[in-house]
This record gives sequence, C-alpha cells and structure tokens, in this order.
Amino acid sequence: MKKATKLVSLGRDKKWSKGVINPPVFRASTVVFDSMEQMRHATANRAKGEMFYGRRGTPTHFAFQAAIAELEGGVGTALYPSGSAAISGALLSFLKAGDHLLMVDSVYEPTRDLCDKLLQGLGIETSYYDPLIGTGIRELIRPNTKVLFLESPGSITMEVQDVPTLCRIAHEHQLVTMLDNTWASPINCRPFEMGVDISIQAATKYIVGHSDVMLGTATANEAHWDTLRENSYLMGQCTSADDIFLAARGLRTLGVRMAQHEKNALKVANFLAQRPEVDHLRHPAFASCPGHEFFLRDFSAANGLFSFVLKEGNRQAMTAFVEGMEHFKMGFSWGGFESLILAISGIEKLRTATQWDSSKPLVRLHIGLEDPDDLIADLERAFERYHAAMQA
Ligand SMILES: *Cc1c(COP(=O)(O)O)cnc(C)c1O
Repeated sequence: MKKATKLVSLGRDKKWSKGVINPPVFRASTVVFDSMEQMRHATANRAKGEMFYGRRGTPTHFAFQAAIAELEGGVGTALYPSGSAAISGALLSFLKAGDHLLMVDSVYEPTRDLCDKLLQGLGIETSYYDPLIGTGIRELIRPNTKVLFLESPGSITMEVQDVPTLCRIAHEHQLVTMLDNTWASPINCRPFEMGVDISIQAATKYIVGHSDVMLGTATANEAHWDTLRENSYLMGQCTSADDIFLAARGLRTLGVRMAQHEKNALKVANFLAQRPEVDHLRHPAFASCPGHEFFLRDFSAANGLFSFVLKEGNRQAMTAFVEGMEHFKMGFSWGGFESLILAISGIEKLRTATQWDSSKPLVRLHIGLEDPDDLIADLERAFERYHAAMQA
C-alpha cells in the first residue's frame, strides 16, 4: 500500500469503528465485566487491544495506535499527553542510575533540559555529540552507554544526521537507538529501516495539524515494544479519547497538508535564497543545509519548517523584522495550518559539543497553507523594516 492510501485506510478496522468512517470517541475509566472468566480474559489480553481499564486505552486509542505503528514501520505505539512526555517516557523506559546517554547537540531545547536537570539528578549522565559526527560516534561510546538519541533535522539549526550509520555503530555496542522523528512525521522517512529502535513524534505538530491538541507518540520495534509499553504504563501515561479522535482526523489529511506545506515553503525559501541580506538557508532540501546529502538519501519530502541566517542584524533590526507581520504570527510550536515566525537568539548557549556563531541572526519560519505570494509580500515588508532599523 502506498502512503496516501495508508493514511486514508489505516486504523479503520470494523472492530474499532463499528462501521462508521471515523472510530468514535470512547471515553472510559471503568470497564465492567460479567464474569470472573471475562475479567481473566481481559487481564490476560490487556496489552493486546482488549478493553481492560481506561488507562490502557479504548477502541479510539487502539485504532490510532495501529495506524501510527504501521505508518512509522514499527510494531506498537505508546501514547503520551505531549511530544515531550513521549521523549521522557521513552528515555526513562530504557535508562537507569549509572547509565550513560548520547544526545545530539542540536536537540529540541526541552529535551536538553530534561537531560541536564531530571536525568542528571537520577544519576544518568548525558554526553552531547555533533549532529554530523558520523562514524566518530564510536569514540564516545562507553561501557555504560545505553541509549543513542537522534533528532534529524535538529531543532532550529536543522542539521540532518546520518541516521543509518549512527544506528549501525550504536547496535554494534547494544545501544537502544531513539529518533525524534517529528520533522519527517510518520510519512517522509522510514526510521525502522534506518536502524531506529524507537521513533518519537510530537503529534502536536503535523499529525494533529490544527494547533489545538498536545499529543506524543513513541513507536517501537519488536525487540523494544514490551519494555516501552509496560514502562510507560507504569508511569501512568495516558491520553484523552477526544484528543486522539482529533489526531486521527488530522492523520487523514496529513499527506495533502504536508505536500502543500512543502510546496509553499520551497517558494518562500527560493525567494529568501535570492535576498542579499540572507547568508544562507537552513532548509534540508537546500545544499546550504548541513547534512543535505542525508536528506536527499533518507527523506521522501520536506515540509513547512525551516530557518535562515542573515548576514548581519542587531536586536532592534531583528525586532523590527518580526514585529508587524501581517500573516506570520510569533509563537512556539509549528505544524498547524498557519504561518509562524521566530527570531531566535542565544543558540550558542544550547550547544556544548559544537559551536554556533551568534553574530549572524537566525530566523525560523513555519510556512502554513496561506498563499505563498502573500507570505513573500509579508517578508518583503519585514526586510524594509529591518533596513530602516539598521540605518537608525
Ligand atoms: C514540539 C516538539 C517537541 C515537543 O512536543 P510537545 O508536544 O510540544 O511537547 C519535541 N520534539 C520536537 C522536534 C518538537 O518540535
């Protein structure tokens, strides 16, 4: 089945949907049983899609889990109330005191905070590595290293990693490999074919796609599914059926939305590439993006999220650039239908294995589903404000 067909058909088994198109919202805490025998059966099959207790999920959840697991290419998907919860849930399921974690230097900032604060306090040590380290990762693996964590492309600076090489070396040392796969979503790369053991999604972004639900998923291969599922259950992770219903609805249009985000973003990126003020683009589909060759090899498409670096700019000029936009709104997150803009400073403080030259300002854009010509006109006015502020 091709991915567009999968997006339309997965998770619609009649045992969950009862024949309607979208699996309905089954809200539940208590599930009641008619006999001891029925209760024993439900208990024995509580991890296999049998109704047991609300925290284990309902048909609404089971249908969505089946769809995500198959799209990602794993065997099972655990659900979490946010992408960050999926990341901490996956890490805490496989790390204990005395263990060592290898974390990519360009990781999403809250993931870095988790390592430096909570994991550190639990006696789990983190070393950061250059996203482009390649085979050099071998030298960083210690006898107590347990997990290699990847995020590709990296947050904000967008370095694309050589995922197959990193995972191959990690497996020579029996590490568990985890990938924050949010940028690709479950449709634009094949994490399990590249050697990833656990693929994580901030479903908050493109899967939900409408900026109105927080949700995370972690999908595991056969070897890691039981541990991930049971440890997440022990940590009490569960999600509301209403949120899952919205995410399942978002999933149906993921393919067409992503294709349009990509098309619009390429048009805006090509405009920016011609601007004299722009030093370079950090868009995985452009040669100026570190790791661009891995994007070409491992991804089937891009999306609406990328950054660009200006040759120069002070605080006033960057403020003038991002304030007063008509269509781009300032805000965190991305993956909804709307365009967003952020002028990001202090990146050098979030890099410990690599260096970032903060003398050149970086702007991150999420290109939404507006007409890209309107977005380009908005950016042209931003450059006018920027120049006026630079000359002031
Ligand atoms: C947004 C994001 C997260 C966190 O997801 P939340 O649902 O906001 O907790 C994790 N990783 C990446 C790459 C993200 O962009």
